[in-house]
Amino acid sequence: MLKFLCPDLCLRSLVDVNLDRLQEQGSKGIILDIDNTVLPWAGEDIDASVILWVETAKSKGFRICLTSNALRQRAERIGDILAIPVIARAVKPRKKPFREALQILGTTATETVVIGDQLFTDVLGGNRMGLYTILLEPLAPKEMAATRVVRRVERRIIRHLSRKGYICETAARRRLAKGGTR
Ligand SMILES: [Mg+2]
Repeated sequence: MLKFLCPDLCLRSLVDVNLDRLQEQGSKGIILDIDNTVLPWAGEDIDASVILWVETAKSKGFRICLTSNALRQRAERIGDILAIPVIARAVKPRKKPFREALQILGTTATETVVIGDQLFTDVLGGNRMGLYTILLEPLAPKEMAATRVVRRVERRIIRHLSRKGYICETAARRRLAKGGTR
């Protein structure tokens, strides 16, 4: 179970994702989370640096798909702005939305990266499908009440993974410091 919760890479934010390195390792498709990954939860504006990152990824030939557990209307609006296909109401970590995303992208599991801010949806779902998983720090502390509860468990697991040496200690410390020690 624990190995399914372990991201392949921990980074601060989307713009820290090195597209050239992904390409070097054979990645062709990117499955991108929306809330607290592309823009703050319940936020409306996408930062210019994120839009630029998405445009750069496209220009390098990456195929990108958004998957979100968010409501359809909101997810589709973000998809329209970024001009990327969307799978809304995805209910991650179920395998179904990831399978759908691979179909849209036309990539295999080993050619695909999933990027998101949550262990129990993005990382768990991606790992179950054998994708390369990148965990980002949430863009903003504001979240759904249910997510805040999940974050407490998430923090415990991150601490554990860090102690075992499975994830970078600096990244874990940064994330834990942000969320407190509960
Ligand atoms: Mg998210």
